[in-house]
Amino acid sequence: MTRFVPALLAILLIPLGALACGGEATPPVAEDAAATDAAPAEPAVSSDPEGADLNDPGAQRVEPFQIFDNLYYIGIQWVSCYLLVTTDGLILIDSLYGDHIDTAIDGIRAVGHDPADLKYVLVSHGHFDHVGGAARFQETYGARVGMTAADWELAEVPPENPDWEIDVPVHDMVIADGDTLELGDTELRFYVTPGHTEGVLSMEFPVRDDGEEHRAFLFGGVGLNFEGVHRTNLYLDSVARIRRLAAEEGNPIDVNLSNHASMGRIFERAEQLASRAEGDPHPFVDPEGYVAWLAELQRNAEEKLVVERELAGE
Ligand SMILES: [Zn+2]
Repeated sequence: MTRFVPALLAILLIPLGALACGGEATPPVAEDAAATDAAPAEPAVSSDPEGADLNDPGAQRVEPFQIFDNLYYIGIQWVSCYLLVTTDGLILIDSLYGDHIDTAIDGIRAVGHDPADLKYVLVSHGHFDHVGGAARFQETYGARVGMTAADWELAEVPPENPDWEIDVPVHDMVIADGDTLELGDTELRFYVTPGHTEGVLSMEFPVRDDGEEHRAFLFGGVGLNFEGVHRTNLYLDSVARIRRLAAEEGNPIDVNLSNHASMGRIFERAEQLASRAEGDPHPFVDPEGYVAWLAELQRNAEEKLVVERELAGE
């Protein structure tokens, strides 16, 4: 069963101006229609693409691995890509780019699934390293691509650096704050958490460890490679919001899935997972670690805010 529930339907009584994500009342599913009122697009500023081996599929290859009963890592060294398995098809979270797209497709097969079963590609933000493969998954496998309105705009504008050019997916699903997506036995909930870009998409969903359910969260824009006091304040607001979610009474976020592996100890935990003995705790289940990680993101952004204020002459 597939059900995309836009938050707009659930909160019709709240004035549109109170909505997050630029406030525009974009239809949740807008086929081939550009968002009309999104934030101005901006050049794709992403992690250093000039590093010698970033674009080399051989150097970047990671053996795909299972993290939970329903979740696999099929990304590369510097960018994550997750495969979420439901009873009614597959969901890809981020889509890699360039030659690395083949790594993701090979990864889906290597973990025993068929890319033809892909139903959705959910893109954390509009930078090339996350959205670059979306068009191919859409064209080849008929997967629907979901992003926030602001980051559809970002992805659709040609980047300043030609190295960051991508095949732009057909404008498909516009995801807003509070939307949910149900596919088979799995429901995802979305949050718009701007800062790294204007329309960073974060998401939470259940993951299962031998049947035991945990609350996984993916903060869609961790990096501080952006500019300005306003954006830094947005980032800080987003981190503060996730900290509140993480601390929900009786329902803590206990699994941190980062969209760059190095920013969330993904490979370190994967090594521990590989040598986990029967009865050991799952190394990705770490609610205290998550709170500490968010506190660290906040400290880093507060330091950046000081610098940005100086640059702005404030
Ligand atoms: Zn980025």
